[in-house]
Amino acid sequence: MIRINENYLKLQASYLFSEIGKRANAFQEAHPERDIIRLGIGDVTRPLPDACIKAFHRAVDEMADIKSFRGYGPEQGYEFLREKIAKADFQSRGANISADEVFVSDGAKCDTGNIQEIFATEITIAIPDPVYPVYLDTNVMAGRTGVFNDGRYQGIVYLEGTRENGFIPDLPREKVDLIYLCFPNNPTGATITKSQLQTWVDYARENKALILYDAAYDAFIKDDSLPRSIYEVEGARDVAIEFRSFSKKAGFTGTRCAFTVVPKSCMAYTSDGETYSVHALWHRRHATKFNSVSYPVQRAAEAVYSDDGMAQSEALIDYYMKNAALIRREMTELGYECIGGENSPYIWIDGRMESWAFFDMLLEKAGVVCTPGAGFGRCGEGYIRISAFNNYENVENAMERIKKAIA
Ligand code: PLP
Repeated sequence: MIRINENYLKLQASYLFSEIGKRANAFQEAHPERDIIRLGIGDVTRPLPDACIKAFHRAVDEMADIKSFRGYGPEQGYEFLREKIAKADFQSRGANISADEVFVSDGAKCDTGNIQEIFATEITIAIPDPVYPVYLDTNVMAGRTGVFNDGRYQGIVYLEGTRENGFIPDLPREKVDLIYLCFPNNPTGATITKSQLQTWVDYARENKALILYDAAYDAFIKDDSLPRSIYEVEGARDVAIEFRSFSKKAGFTGTRCAFTVVPKSCMAYTSDGETYSVHALWHRRHATKFNSVSYPVQRAAEAVYSDDGMAQSEALIDYYMKNAALIRREMTELGYECIGGENSPYIWIDGRMESWAFFDMLLEKAGVVCTPGAGFGRCGEGYIRISAFNNYENVENAMERIKKAIA
C-alpha cells in the first residue's frame, strides 16, 4: 500500500492569497464600476534590464550554433557568474567569500526550502513570526513539528517580531540549532544593523547553531551602514548560509536565477559530535538533485554585473523605492505607524484594528487591495503589508484614494 507523508496533513491551507482574491472578486462583482488597485503583490512589474536582455539573446544565439552550443553546465553554476557574484556582492564589501562557495540555483524559494534536508530531523528550529511561509512549511513537511494548535506549530521556537522590538526578534531564551533570519524582511520591511546581526552570529557561535540568512531583498538597502550580507559581520563565515536572488534585484521573478552561499568554514556536527563540512553536504545534495540553471539565464544574470546592468538594475530599484517612499509618507501623514519602505520594498503598517478589518476597509472605501499581516503569523495581527512593486501611477492613485477615504 502506497502511503503518504502524513506530515503534509499538518500543513495549514495557505488561504491568505486565495482569501484576498475571493474578497477582491466579490467586491468587483458587487461594484463593477469601481476599478481595484492591487498593492498586495510581491512580484515585480518592470521588464528586465536591457543589458540582461541583450546577453540573454546572445546566449540563445550561441545555443543555435554547433560551435558554441552548450549542454549540461557545471551543477554549481558557471564560473563566469560565480566569480562576478563573489567579487561584486561580497569581496567588494569586505566579505571574504570565494566563487567556489557560491551555488547558483533557480530560486531562493527552492533553496530556502531545500536546505533543511541536510540537517537532522530532531534539531530545534527558530523561525520568525511574522514570516515568509516557506521556512515554516518545509520544516513541517520534513516532520520537524508537531500539530498546529492555536496559530502555532508545536516544537518550533517562534522568534516574535513586535512593535516593541521593531520587528527585530530577540535572541531565543532556549538553545536552538537552526535559525532563520530574513533582512530586509518580508513581510515587515524591517532591516537589521551590523551590531544587531553580530549578536545573532555570536549566539550561533556560542551554541554551535547555524543561521540561514535570507537576503533576497539586499539590493533595496540604500543606507550603506546596514549590512547587505551576513558575512560583513565578524565570525559569520563559520555559522551562516546566505540566500540571494536576482528576482527582485533585477526583475528575474519569471526568468529564475538565484544563489546560495555556503562558506567552506561552515561546520555542522554528527550525533557523536564529529565536525562535518556543510559545504560538502550541500554540494553533494546540489549535484545529486539539481542540474543547474540554463546557460542563457546565467548569461543574463552575469550581465547584471556589467556597467550597464548595474546602472539599469539600480534604476529599477530606484523606481520601486520611489513608490515605497510615497506609500510610507502618505500613510505616516494619515497617522499610521510604518516600518520598512526605506531600505525595503515593503511597508508594514499598524492598522490599529484587526488586519482583515483594515483590509476590508481599504477595499470597500478606496478600492485598494493590501495584504493582511495576520496571514504571515500570529504577530502580524493588527498590521497590513503594502508592496511597492507596482507602477508609480497606480501607487499615486491608490494613495489619493486612501487619503480621501480615511482623512
Ligand atoms: N525569500 C523571500 C524573503 C522572498 O520574499 C521571496 C519571494 O518573494 C523569495 C525568497 C523567493 O525568491 P525567488 O524568486 O528567488 O525564488
